[in-house]
Amino acid sequence: MNRILIAEDESRIASFVEKGLRANGFVTAVVGDGVAAYDLACAGGFDLLILDIGLPLSDGFTVLRRLRESRVTMPVIILTARDSVSDTVAGLEGGADDYIAKPFAFEELLARVRLRLRAERTPEVTVLRVSDLSLDLRTRRAYVGDRAVDLSAREFALAEIFCRHPDQVLTREQLLSHVWGFDFDPGSNVVDVYVRYLRRKIGAERIETVRGTGYRMRVA
Ligand code: CA
Repeated sequence: MNRILIAEDESRIASFVEKGLRANGFVTAVVGDGVAAYDLACAGGFDLLILDIGLPLSDGFTVLRRLRESRVTMPVIILTARDSVSDTVAGLEGGADDYIAKPFAFEELLARVRLRLRAERTPEVTVLRVSDLSLDLRTRRAYVGDRAVDLSAREFALAEIFCRHPDQVLTREQLLSHVWGFDFDPGSNVVDVYVRYLRRKIGAERIETVRGTGYRMRVA
């Protein structure tokens, strides 16, 4: 049975969503502010969060950001105002899996909830791991063991390609085309420069230089 947390301060909407979900066999809980939403979502036991953006105490964006920072990965569907494209974009960039604009028909929400729960059951790879280095592809965060490592977008992309091909020699050209696209001069030393940055952040021993060819990510 799926448990759904509903964070919505307008009781009319909250009860409309809750009744509909219960009638369809879901177990629900409702909270009316962002602090309670964060606490309950962190406590676990829910399979999905329906999150209103305009919440008291802590708005939906903040709740979402804090959840993703706390590595809570449950699917989140945000509720936005019909005319607010910027809210929608910000929500998706902040780690929401889907959105629905108010006012909405219950059937539309139900379809999205089911879709998200199904996607969750057959998860695509969202975390790449090589030794104790892990990359969360959804939040674009990197960890060495439990320690978060702050990588720039390019550094992350470079780490990602290495982690997708562990123990395999990748040429400078391959790295250039994957991370920078083809608009870079193949004579550029940008790959070497970024490998150096990356080594400094995740540990130099992890990326081995293969003389005259390129680099390889070591598997411990
Ligand atoms: Ca609201």
